[in-house]
Amino acid sequence: MRAIRESFDVVVLGAGTAGAAAAAFLSEAGLRAALLDTRPLDQAGACWVNAVPYWFYDAAGLDRPVSPEDVAPPDGALRMLPVSGGKGFEIRPAPAPTVDMALLVRRLHRRAVASGVHCFAPVRDLVAELEGPRPVAVTGIHEPGDAAPRRFRLDARLFVDATGWTGFLRGLVPTLRRDCPVPTGRDLCAALQEDCELADPEGAQAFLAARDMRPGDVAGWVGVRGGFSTRMVHVHGDLAHAGLLIGVSGDGRNGTAAALMARLKADHPFVGRGIRGGGGMIPVRRPFDRLVAPGVALVGDAACQVFPGHASGVGMGLVAARMLADAVASGDDPGAIEALWGYAARFQRTHGPILGAFDVFRRMAWDMPESDVQALTDCGFVGPGMTQVALSQRLGPVPLGELISIARGALRRPDLAARMALIGPRMAAVAAAYKAYPADPDPGMLARWSRALGTAAGVTPDVREGDA
Ligand SMILES: Cc1cc2nc3c(=O)[nH]c(=O)nc-3n(C[C@H](O)[C@H](O)[C@H](O)COP(=O)(O)OP(=O)(O)OC[C@H]3O[C@@H](n4cnc5c(N)ncnc54)[C@H](O)[C@@H]3O)c2cc1C
Repeated sequence: MRAIRESFDVVVLGAGTAGAAAAAFLSEAGLRAALLDTRPLDQAGACWVNAVPYWFYDAAGLDRPVSPEDVAPPDGALRMLPVSGGKGFEIRPAPAPTVDMALLVRRLHRRAVASGVHCFAPVRDLVAELEGPRPVAVTGIHEPGDAAPRRFRLDARLFVDATGWTGFLRGLVPTLRRDCPVPTGRDLCAALQEDCELADPEGAQAFLAARDMRPGDVAGWVGVRGGFSTRMVHVHGDLAHAGLLIGVSGDGRNGTAAALMARLKADHPFVGRGIRGGGGMIPVRRPFDRLVAPGVALVGDAACQVFPGHASGVGMGLVAARMLADAVASGDDPGAIEALWGYAARFQRTHGPILGAFDVFRRMAWDMPESDVQALTDCGFVGPGMTQVALSQRLGPVPLGELISIARGALRRPDLAARMALIGPRMAAVAAAYKAYPADPDPGMLARWSRALGTAAGVTPDVREGDA
Protein backbone atom coordinates (compact mmCIF):
# COMPACT_ATOMS: atom_id res chain seq x y z
CA MET A 1 0.00 0.00 0.00
CA ARG A 2 1.23 3.48 -0.89
CA ALA A 3 2.26 5.56 2.16
CA ILE A 4 2.43 9.30 2.66
CA ARG A 5 3.98 11.42 5.37
CA GLU A 6 3.11 15.10 5.64
CA SER A 7 3.57 17.90 8.16
CA PHE A 8 0.85 20.37 9.04
CA ASP A 9 0.47 23.18 11.53
CA VAL A 10 -2.86 21.72 12.55
CA VAL A 11 -4.74 18.46 12.04
CA VAL A 12 -8.48 18.57 12.74
CA LEU A 13 -10.16 15.26 13.55
CA GLY A 14 -13.87 15.23 12.70
CA ALA A 15 -15.40 17.05 9.73
CA GLY A 16 -18.80 17.91 11.23
CA THR A 17 -19.82 21.55 11.69
CA ALA A 18 -17.30 22.28 14.47
CA GLY A 19 -14.34 20.53 12.82
CA ALA A 20 -15.00 21.78 9.29
CA ALA A 21 -15.38 25.35 10.56
CA ALA A 22 -12.21 25.05 12.68
CA ALA A 23 -10.20 23.72 9.71
CA ALA A 24 -11.49 26.50 7.44
CA PHE A 25 -10.86 29.30 9.95
CA LEU A 26 -7.41 28.03 10.92
CA SER A 27 -6.40 27.70 7.29
CA GLU A 28 -7.75 31.15 6.45
CA ALA A 29 -5.63 32.46 9.34
CA GLY A 30 -2.53 31.19 7.54
CA LEU A 31 -2.00 27.77 9.11
CA ARG A 32 -1.40 24.65 7.03
CA ALA A 33 -4.37 22.47 7.96
CA ALA A 34 -5.63 18.93 7.38
CA LEU A 35 -9.17 17.68 8.06
CA LEU A 36 -9.90 13.99 8.73
CA ASP A 37 -13.11 12.04 9.15
CA THR A 38 -13.87 8.38 9.59
CA ARG A 39 -16.87 8.82 7.29
CA PRO A 40 -16.82 9.91 3.64
CA LEU A 41 -16.86 13.71 3.56
CA ASP A 42 -20.41 13.89 2.18
CA GLN A 43 -21.64 11.89 5.19
CA ALA A 44 -19.69 13.75 7.90
CA GLY A 45 -21.46 15.57 10.71
CA ALA A 46 -25.17 16.01 11.25
CA CYS A 47 -27.41 15.03 8.32
CA TRP A 48 -30.76 16.17 9.63
CA VAL A 49 -32.44 19.54 10.23
CA ASN A 50 -31.29 21.64 13.18
CA ALA A 51 -32.45 24.94 14.69
CA VAL A 52 -29.56 27.44 14.87
CA PRO A 53 -29.97 31.15 15.76
CA TYR A 54 -28.63 33.49 13.08
CA TRP A 55 -26.35 35.37 15.49
CA PHE A 56 -24.04 32.37 15.72
CA TYR A 57 -23.19 32.65 12.01
CA ASP A 58 -22.45 36.36 12.45
CA ALA A 59 -20.23 35.70 15.48
CA ALA A 60 -18.37 32.91 13.68
CA GLY A 61 -17.82 35.02 10.55
CA LEU A 62 -20.05 32.90 8.31
CA ASP A 63 -22.75 34.07 5.93
CA ARG A 64 -26.23 33.43 7.25
CA PRO A 65 -27.89 30.46 5.54
CA VAL A 66 -30.28 31.07 2.68
CA SER A 67 -32.77 28.72 1.04
CA PRO A 68 -32.48 25.77 0.44
CA GLU A 69 -30.00 25.52 3.37
CA ASP A 70 -32.35 27.71 5.43
CA VAL A 71 -35.54 25.70 5.79
CA ALA A 72 -37.54 28.20 7.86
CA PRO A 73 -39.74 30.91 6.35
CA PRO A 74 -38.57 34.42 7.42
CA ASP A 75 -41.38 34.99 9.94
CA GLY A 76 -42.07 31.37 10.95
CA ALA A 77 -43.09 31.05 14.59
CA LEU A 78 -42.43 28.62 17.40
CA ARG A 79 -45.55 27.72 19.36
CA MET A 80 -44.96 26.04 22.71
CA LEU A 81 -47.98 23.89 23.49
CA PRO A 82 -49.09 22.40 26.82
CA VAL A 83 -49.05 18.58 26.71
CA SER A 84 -52.51 18.61 28.29
CA GLY A 85 -53.97 20.61 25.36
CA GLY A 86 -54.60 24.30 24.73
CA LYS A 87 -52.78 26.88 22.65
CA GLY A 88 -49.78 27.78 24.81
CA PHE A 89 -47.76 30.73 23.58
CA GLU A 90 -46.08 31.83 20.38
CA ILE A 91 -42.72 33.44 19.57
CA ARG A 92 -42.68 35.02 16.09
CA PRO A 93 -40.21 34.86 14.45
CA ALA A 94 -38.81 31.68 16.01
CA PRO A 95 -35.54 32.43 17.85
CA ALA A 96 -33.73 29.52 16.18
CA PRO A 97 -34.61 29.00 12.49
CA THR A 98 -34.20 25.50 11.07
CA VAL A 99 -31.31 24.68 8.77
CA ASP A 100 -30.50 21.72 6.53
CA MET A 101 -27.35 20.50 8.24
CA ALA A 102 -26.06 18.47 5.30
CA LEU A 103 -26.01 21.67 3.23
CA LEU A 104 -24.35 23.66 6.03
CA VAL A 105 -21.68 20.99 6.50
CA ARG A 106 -21.12 20.91 2.72
CA ARG A 107 -20.77 24.72 2.67
CA LEU A 108 -18.15 24.51 5.43
CA HIS A 109 -16.26 21.77 3.56
CA ARG A 110 -16.23 23.90 0.42
CA ARG A 111 -14.91 26.84 2.41
CA ALA A 112 -12.23 24.67 4.00
CA VAL A 113 -11.09 23.25 0.66
CA ALA A 114 -11.12 26.71 -0.96
CA SER A 115 -8.80 28.01 1.75
CA GLY A 116 -6.33 25.15 1.16
CA VAL A 117 -7.32 22.53 3.76
CA HIS A 118 -6.18 18.99 2.85
CA CYS A 119 -9.07 16.56 3.40
CA PHE A 120 -8.64 12.88 4.29
CA ALA A 121 -11.95 10.99 4.36
CA PRO A 122 -12.89 8.33 5.02
CA VAL A 123 -10.01 7.22 7.22
CA ARG A 124 -9.69 4.11 9.39
CA ASP A 125 -7.32 2.52 11.91
CA LEU A 126 -6.48 5.92 13.36
CA VAL A 127 -3.72 5.99 15.96
CA ALA A 128 -2.41 9.06 17.75
CA GLU A 129 1.31 9.18 18.56
CA LEU A 130 2.27 11.03 21.73
CA GLU A 131 5.61 12.38 22.90
CA GLY A 132 5.13 12.62 26.63
CA PRO A 133 1.65 14.11 27.12
CA ARG A 134 1.56 15.87 23.74
CA PRO A 135 0.29 14.33 20.49
CA VAL A 136 2.73 14.75 17.62
CA ALA A 137 1.21 12.69 14.80
CA VAL A 138 -1.78 10.66 13.69
CA THR A 139 -1.46 7.61 11.51
CA GLY A 140 -4.08 5.60 9.68
CA ILE A 141 -5.38 4.48 6.32
CA HIS A 142 -7.12 6.84 3.90
CA GLU A 143 -9.60 5.19 1.57
CA PRO A 144 -10.62 7.73 -1.05
CA GLY A 145 -13.43 6.29 -3.16
CA ASP A 146 -11.68 7.11 -6.43
CA ALA A 147 -8.13 5.89 -5.65
CA ALA A 148 -6.29 3.07 -3.92
CA PRO A 149 -6.10 3.13 -0.10
CA ARG A 150 -2.94 4.69 1.31
CA ARG A 151 -1.34 4.69 4.70
CA PHE A 152 -0.62 8.11 6.13
CA ARG A 153 1.28 9.75 8.90
CA LEU A 154 0.38 13.38 9.56
CA ASP A 155 2.63 15.35 11.91
CA ALA A 156 1.32 18.57 13.43
CA ARG A 157 1.83 20.98 16.29
CA LEU A 158 -1.88 21.28 17.04
CA PHE A 159 -4.54 18.57 16.95
CA VAL A 160 -8.18 19.61 17.19
CA ASP A 161 -10.59 17.01 18.54
CA ALA A 162 -13.94 17.64 16.83
CA THR A 163 -14.97 13.99 16.75
CA GLY A 164 -18.28 14.49 18.58
CA TRP A 165 -19.35 13.53 22.09
CA THR A 166 -17.18 10.42 22.39
CA GLY A 167 -14.00 12.52 21.87
CA PHE A 168 -11.41 10.29 20.19
CA LEU A 169 -8.28 12.30 21.13
CA ARG A 170 -9.81 13.39 24.42
CA GLY A 171 -9.69 9.77 25.46
CA LEU A 172 -6.02 9.34 24.53
CA VAL A 173 -4.30 12.45 25.88
CA PRO A 174 -3.64 11.82 29.59
CA THR A 175 -4.67 15.22 31.03
CA LEU A 176 -7.86 15.29 29.00
CA ARG A 177 -8.71 11.67 29.78
CA ARG A 178 -8.34 12.51 33.47
CA ASP A 179 -10.22 15.81 33.50
CA CYS A 180 -12.94 15.27 30.88
CA PRO A 181 -15.17 12.38 31.93
CA VAL A 182 -17.08 10.77 29.04
CA PRO A 183 -20.70 11.92 29.39
CA THR A 184 -23.04 9.08 30.33
CA GLY A 185 -26.73 8.52 31.07
CA ARG A 186 -28.09 11.68 32.60
CA ASP A 187 -25.61 13.87 30.74
CA LEU A 188 -26.78 12.66 27.34
CA CYS A 189 -29.87 13.42 25.31
CA ALA A 190 -31.04 10.84 22.77
CA ALA A 191 -32.45 12.69 19.77
CA LEU A 192 -34.09 11.77 16.46
CA GLN A 193 -35.13 14.04 13.61
CA GLU A 194 -37.03 13.05 10.48
CA ASP A 195 -38.32 14.97 7.48
CA CYS A 196 -41.43 13.40 6.00
CA GLU A 197 -43.89 13.88 3.20
CA LEU A 198 -47.20 15.39 4.20
CA ALA A 199 -49.77 12.63 3.54
CA ASP A 200 -52.79 14.77 4.34
CA PRO A 201 -52.30 18.54 3.82
CA GLU A 202 -55.86 19.27 4.89
CA GLY A 203 -55.32 17.38 8.14
CA ALA A 204 -52.13 19.39 8.68
CA GLN A 205 -53.97 22.64 8.07
CA ALA A 206 -56.65 21.64 10.56
CA PHE A 207 -53.92 20.82 13.11
CA LEU A 208 -52.38 24.28 12.58
CA ALA A 209 -55.68 26.18 12.58
CA ALA A 210 -56.74 24.59 15.88
CA ARG A 211 -53.59 26.05 17.46
CA ASP A 212 -53.59 29.47 15.76
CA MET A 213 -50.56 28.41 13.69
CA ARG A 214 -49.62 28.96 10.04
CA PRO A 215 -47.79 26.69 7.59
CA GLY A 216 -44.06 27.10 8.32
CA ASP A 217 -44.58 27.40 12.10
CA VAL A 218 -43.09 24.88 14.53
CA ALA A 219 -45.13 23.26 17.33
CA GLY A 220 -43.15 22.22 20.44
CA TRP A 221 -44.00 20.38 23.64
CA VAL A 222 -41.76 19.83 26.68
CA GLY A 223 -42.10 17.26 29.45
CA VAL A 224 -43.67 14.66 27.15
CA ARG A 225 -41.83 11.73 28.78
CA GLY A 226 -39.87 12.60 31.89
CA GLY A 227 -38.39 15.92 32.93
CA PHE A 228 -35.96 16.33 30.03
CA SER A 229 -38.00 15.47 26.99
CA THR A 230 -39.40 17.29 24.02
CA ARG A 231 -41.15 16.78 20.73
CA MET A 232 -41.66 19.09 17.81
CA VAL A 233 -43.72 19.14 14.63
CA HIS A 234 -42.80 21.51 11.80
CA VAL A 235 -45.38 21.66 8.99
CA HIS A 236 -43.39 23.27 6.18
CA GLY A 237 -44.68 26.37 4.39
CA ASP A 238 -45.12 24.35 1.15
CA LEU A 239 -47.70 22.09 2.86
CA ALA A 240 -45.89 19.18 1.22
CA HIS A 241 -43.43 18.25 3.99
CA ALA A 242 -43.19 18.09 7.77
CA GLY A 243 -40.22 17.79 10.13
CA LEU A 244 -40.44 15.80 13.37
CA LEU A 245 -38.07 15.94 16.34
CA ILE A 246 -37.75 13.91 19.55
CA GLY A 247 -35.37 14.48 22.46
CA VAL A 248 -35.33 12.35 25.61
CA SER A 249 -32.99 11.43 28.45
CA GLY A 250 -30.08 9.36 27.11
CA ASP A 251 -30.18 6.89 30.02
CA GLY A 252 -33.26 5.18 28.59
CA ARG A 253 -35.26 5.51 31.79
CA ASN A 254 -38.05 7.33 29.95
CA GLY A 255 -38.08 5.15 26.85
CA THR A 256 -36.22 5.40 23.58
CA ALA A 257 -36.26 8.21 21.05
CA ALA A 258 -37.43 5.67 18.43
CA ALA A 259 -40.48 4.69 20.50
CA LEU A 260 -41.33 8.36 21.10
CA MET A 261 -40.96 9.09 17.38
CA ALA A 262 -43.36 6.26 16.54
CA ARG A 263 -45.83 7.71 19.01
CA LEU A 264 -45.40 11.23 17.58
CA LYS A 265 -46.23 9.92 14.11
CA ALA A 266 -49.24 8.00 15.38
CA ASP A 267 -50.51 11.17 17.06
CA HIS A 268 -50.14 13.14 13.80
CA PRO A 269 -51.55 10.93 11.05
CA PHE A 270 -51.28 13.75 8.51
CA VAL A 271 -47.51 13.08 8.45
CA GLY A 272 -46.54 10.59 5.73
CA ARG A 273 -43.49 8.66 4.55
CA GLY A 274 -40.06 9.57 5.94
CA ILE A 275 -37.66 11.12 3.43
CA ARG A 276 -34.48 11.66 5.43
CA GLY A 277 -33.28 12.19 8.95
CA GLY A 278 -30.99 10.81 11.58
CA GLY A 279 -30.18 10.87 15.23
CA GLY A 280 -27.75 10.16 18.00
CA MET A 281 -26.60 11.19 21.44
CA ILE A 282 -25.93 14.80 22.38
CA PRO A 283 -23.91 15.71 25.49
CA VAL A 284 -25.92 18.11 27.64
CA ARG A 285 -23.65 18.76 30.63
CA ARG A 286 -21.76 22.06 30.94
CA PRO A 287 -18.65 22.42 28.75
CA PHE A 288 -15.70 20.52 30.18
CA ASP A 289 -13.85 22.64 32.72
CA ARG A 290 -10.69 21.93 30.70
CA LEU A 291 -10.89 22.53 26.95
CA VAL A 292 -7.20 22.33 26.01
CA ALA A 293 -3.92 20.58 26.77
CA PRO A 294 -0.52 21.07 25.16
CA GLY A 295 -0.97 20.40 21.44
CA VAL A 296 -4.72 19.67 21.68
CA ALA A 297 -7.96 21.65 21.64
CA LEU A 298 -11.50 20.32 21.99
CA VAL A 299 -14.32 21.93 19.99
CA GLY A 300 -18.01 21.19 19.48
CA ASP A 301 -19.67 18.16 21.08
CA ALA A 302 -16.19 16.81 21.94
CA ALA A 303 -15.93 19.80 24.32
CA CYS A 304 -19.59 19.56 25.42
CA GLN A 305 -20.15 23.03 23.95
CA VAL A 306 -23.87 22.37 23.83
CA PHE A 307 -26.78 24.35 25.25
CA PRO A 308 -27.89 22.09 28.12
CA GLY A 309 -31.53 23.20 28.16
CA HIS A 310 -32.33 21.84 24.71
CA ALA A 311 -29.22 20.01 23.48
CA SER A 312 -28.24 22.44 20.70
CA GLY A 313 -24.55 22.34 19.82
CA VAL A 314 -24.13 23.64 16.30
CA GLY A 315 -23.94 27.37 17.04
CA MET A 316 -21.60 26.99 20.03
CA GLY A 317 -19.32 24.71 18.00
CA LEU A 318 -19.08 27.33 15.24
CA VAL A 319 -18.19 30.19 17.59
CA ALA A 320 -15.71 27.96 19.42
CA ALA A 321 -14.00 27.22 16.09
CA ARG A 322 -13.72 30.95 15.43
CA MET A 323 -12.31 31.63 18.91
CA LEU A 324 -9.75 28.86 18.51
CA ALA A 325 -8.51 30.25 15.19
CA ASP A 326 -8.34 33.78 16.63
CA ALA A 327 -6.35 32.56 19.64
CA VAL A 328 -3.67 30.51 17.90
CA ALA A 329 -3.26 32.25 14.55
CA SER A 330 -0.64 34.81 15.47
CA GLY A 331 1.74 32.77 17.68
CA ASP A 332 4.80 30.76 16.64
CA ASP A 333 3.36 27.48 17.90
CA PRO A 334 -0.41 26.96 17.50
CA GLY A 335 -0.18 24.05 19.94
CA ALA A 336 1.48 26.05 22.73
CA ILE A 337 -0.62 25.89 25.87
CA GLU A 338 -0.39 29.67 26.33
CA ALA A 339 -2.02 30.25 22.92
CA LEU A 340 -4.62 27.52 23.40
CA TRP A 341 -5.55 28.83 26.82
CA GLY A 342 -6.59 32.11 25.22
CA TYR A 343 -9.26 30.12 23.35
CA ALA A 344 -10.39 28.21 26.44
CA ALA A 345 -10.60 31.30 28.65
CA ARG A 346 -12.45 33.35 26.04
CA PHE A 347 -14.98 30.61 25.35
CA GLN A 348 -15.64 29.88 29.04
CA ARG A 349 -15.89 33.54 30.02
CA THR A 350 -18.14 34.45 27.08
CA HIS A 351 -20.48 31.47 26.77
CA GLY A 352 -19.85 29.58 30.03
CA PRO A 353 -22.24 31.81 32.01
CA ILE A 354 -25.34 30.90 30.02
CA LEU A 355 -24.29 27.28 29.40
CA GLY A 356 -23.42 26.68 33.05
CA ALA A 357 -26.56 28.45 34.35
CA PHE A 358 -28.87 26.45 32.08
CA ASP A 359 -27.11 23.24 33.10
CA VAL A 360 -28.37 23.98 36.62
CA PHE A 361 -31.88 24.42 35.21
CA ARG A 362 -31.56 21.28 33.09
CA ARG A 363 -30.54 19.15 36.07
CA MET A 364 -33.51 20.44 38.07
CA ALA A 365 -35.94 19.68 35.21
CA TRP A 366 -34.37 16.24 34.62
CA ASP A 367 -35.54 15.00 37.99
CA MET A 368 -39.01 16.53 37.82
CA PRO A 369 -42.07 14.46 37.05
CA GLU A 370 -43.43 15.46 33.65
CA SER A 371 -46.51 17.02 35.23
CA ASP A 372 -44.23 19.51 37.03
CA VAL A 373 -42.27 20.34 33.88
CA GLN A 374 -45.53 20.95 32.08
CA ALA A 375 -46.71 23.12 34.99
CA LEU A 376 -43.60 25.30 34.56
CA THR A 377 -45.07 26.47 31.23
CA ASP A 378 -48.75 26.13 32.10
CA CYS A 379 -48.39 28.24 35.27
CA GLY A 380 -46.25 30.89 33.57
CA PHE A 381 -42.84 30.19 35.20
CA VAL A 382 -41.40 29.61 31.74
CA GLY A 383 -43.00 31.99 29.24
CA PRO A 384 -42.03 33.54 25.90
CA GLY A 385 -39.27 35.73 27.41
CA MET A 386 -37.46 32.89 29.16
CA THR A 387 -37.97 30.61 26.13
CA GLN A 388 -36.55 33.30 23.85
CA VAL A 389 -33.42 33.53 26.05
CA ALA A 390 -33.01 29.75 26.11
CA LEU A 391 -33.56 29.18 22.41
CA SER A 392 -31.48 32.12 21.25
CA GLN A 393 -28.76 30.95 23.71
CA ARG A 394 -28.09 34.56 24.67
CA LEU A 395 -28.91 36.39 27.85
CA GLY A 396 -31.58 39.05 27.42
CA PRO A 397 -34.28 40.85 29.40
CA VAL A 398 -37.39 38.97 30.49
CA PRO A 399 -40.42 41.24 29.87
CA LEU A 400 -42.25 42.70 32.87
CA GLY A 401 -45.48 40.94 31.85
CA GLU A 402 -43.74 37.62 32.25
CA LEU A 403 -42.60 38.48 35.78
CA ILE A 404 -46.25 39.17 36.64
CA SER A 405 -47.30 35.81 35.24
CA ILE A 406 -44.52 34.16 37.29
CA ALA A 407 -46.00 35.80 40.41
CA ARG A 408 -49.45 34.47 39.48
CA GLY A 409 -47.94 31.01 38.90
CA ALA A 410 -46.40 31.17 42.37
CA LEU A 411 -49.89 31.50 43.86
CA ARG A 412 -51.04 28.39 41.99
CA ARG A 413 -47.94 26.27 42.60
CA PRO A 414 -46.01 27.59 45.62
CA ASP A 415 -43.94 24.36 45.66
CA LEU A 416 -42.65 25.03 42.14
CA ALA A 417 -42.08 28.69 42.98
CA ALA A 418 -39.93 27.59 45.93
CA ARG A 419 -37.88 25.33 43.67
CA MET A 420 -37.41 28.09 41.12
CA ALA A 421 -36.46 30.52 43.89
CA LEU A 422 -33.75 28.09 44.98
CA ILE A 423 -32.18 27.58 41.57
CA GLY A 424 -32.29 31.26 40.53
CA PRO A 425 -29.42 32.27 42.84
CA ARG A 426 -27.55 29.05 41.95
CA MET A 427 -27.78 29.90 38.25
CA ALA A 428 -26.51 33.42 38.98
CA ALA A 429 -23.60 32.09 41.07
CA VAL A 430 -22.58 29.67 38.33
CA ALA A 431 -22.75 32.42 35.70
CA ALA A 432 -20.54 34.60 37.90
CA ALA A 433 -18.04 31.76 38.37
CA TYR A 434 -17.53 31.43 34.62
CA LYS A 435 -16.59 35.10 34.38
CA ALA A 436 -13.63 34.25 36.62
CA TYR A 437 -12.29 31.37 34.49
CA PRO A 438 -8.47 31.43 34.93
CA ALA A 439 -6.81 33.71 32.40
CA ASP A 440 -3.54 31.73 32.43
CA PRO A 441 -2.73 28.02 32.11
CA ASP A 442 -1.95 27.49 35.77
CA PRO A 443 -3.01 23.93 36.77
CA GLY A 444 -3.56 24.88 40.42
CA MET A 445 -5.75 27.82 39.47
CA LEU A 446 -7.80 25.64 37.11
CA ALA A 447 -8.33 23.04 39.83
CA ARG A 448 -9.42 25.73 42.32
CA TRP A 449 -11.75 27.27 39.75
CA SER A 450 -13.22 23.87 38.92
CA ARG A 451 -13.86 23.23 42.62
CA ALA A 452 -15.49 26.65 43.08
CA LEU A 453 -17.70 26.02 40.04
CA GLY A 454 -18.61 22.58 41.36
CA THR A 455 -19.64 24.09 44.69
CA ALA A 456 -21.72 26.82 43.01
CA ALA A 457 -23.38 24.38 40.59
CA GLY A 458 -23.73 21.45 43.00
CA VAL A 459 -21.73 19.13 40.74
CA THR A 460 -18.50 17.15 40.94
CA PRO A 461 -15.57 19.27 39.70
CA ASP A 462 -13.88 17.95 36.56
CA VAL A 463 -10.41 18.94 37.76
CA ARG A 464 -9.23 18.08 41.23
CA GLU A 465 -6.51 19.77 43.23
CA GLY A 466 -3.50 17.54 43.36
CA ASP A 467 -4.16 16.49 39.77
CA ALA A 468 -2.10 19.35 38.42
C1 LIG B 1 -31.64 14.51 16.12
C2 LIG B 1 -30.78 15.64 16.56
C3 LIG B 1 -31.29 16.91 16.53
C4 LIG B 1 -30.49 17.98 16.90
N1 LIG B 1 -31.01 19.25 16.87
C5 LIG B 1 -30.19 20.30 17.08
C6 LIG B 1 -30.68 21.62 16.89
O1 LIG B 1 -31.85 21.85 16.57
N2 LIG B 1 -29.79 22.65 17.05
C7 LIG B 1 -28.49 22.43 17.37
O2 LIG B 1 -27.72 23.40 17.48
N3 LIG B 1 -28.03 21.18 17.61
C8 LIG B 1 -28.84 20.12 17.45
N4 LIG B 1 -28.36 18.85 17.63
C9 LIG B 1 -26.97 18.67 18.09
C10 LIG B 1 -26.01 18.90 16.95
O3 LIG B 1 -26.35 18.10 15.85
C11 LIG B 1 -24.59 18.63 17.43
O4 LIG B 1 -24.34 19.41 18.57
C12 LIG B 1 -23.58 18.95 16.34
O5 LIG B 1 -23.79 18.18 15.19
C13 LIG B 1 -22.16 18.73 16.86
O6 LIG B 1 -21.24 19.01 15.84
P1 LIG B 1 -19.75 18.48 15.95
O7 LIG B 1 -19.09 18.92 14.70
O8 LIG B 1 -19.17 18.85 17.26
O9 LIG B 1 -19.85 16.90 15.99
P2 LIG B 1 -20.51 15.88 14.96
O10 LIG B 1 -21.58 16.52 14.15
O11 LIG B 1 -20.87 14.69 15.79
O12 LIG B 1 -19.33 15.50 13.97
C14 LIG B 1 -18.26 14.69 14.41
C15 LIG B 1 -17.57 14.11 13.19
O13 LIG B 1 -16.41 13.41 13.66
C16 LIG B 1 -16.30 12.20 12.94
N5 LIG B 1 -15.49 11.27 13.75
C17 LIG B 1 -15.88 10.51 14.80
N6 LIG B 1 -14.81 9.86 15.31
C18 LIG B 1 -13.74 10.21 14.56
C19 LIG B 1 -12.35 9.89 14.61
N7 LIG B 1 -11.86 9.05 15.52
N8 LIG B 1 -11.55 10.46 13.70
C20 LIG B 1 -12.02 11.31 12.74
N9 LIG B 1 -13.33 11.65 12.67
C21 LIG B 1 -14.17 11.12 13.57
C22 LIG B 1 -17.72 11.75 12.70
O14 LIG B 1 -17.80 10.88 11.58
C23 LIG B 1 -18.42 13.08 12.44
O15 LIG B 1 -18.42 13.41 11.05
C24 LIG B 1 -29.15 17.76 17.31
C25 LIG B 1 -28.63 16.45 17.36
C26 LIG B 1 -29.45 15.41 17.00
C27 LIG B 1 -28.89 14.00 17.08
